[in-house]
Amino acid sequence: MIPQRYKHICEVCGRTEELTPEEAFEAGWDYPPRMGAFGIVSPRTCPDCSMMDTVWAALVLKKMNPDELTYKQKLTLLRIINEPDSVMPDSEEQEP
Ligand SMILES: [Zn+2]
Repeated sequence: MIPQRYKHICEVCGRTEELTPEEAFEAGWDYPPRMGAFGIVSPRTCPDCSMMDTVWAALVLKKMNPDELTYKQKLTLLRIINEPDSVMPDSEEQEP
């Protein structure tokens, strides 16, 4: 189950914010479930970063093999595959 708020992690600059899908969409994030889907490789970027620097671009546009990814990109790939568990917020508090 996906919480109302979860971590939005920019895979390019590392910016991390806990947002609802609506807040993220309005702020300009490219992030599931509005853009793409959890567990499927697609760009995950903050409003300031380019999708050309994402793992998705490396694999799909630049036709790189997963072996050729940088260490940071491999970590991103792992995080994507493990969504939504990997983007759960730190606190378990429920809204009233
Ligand atoms: Zn960014």
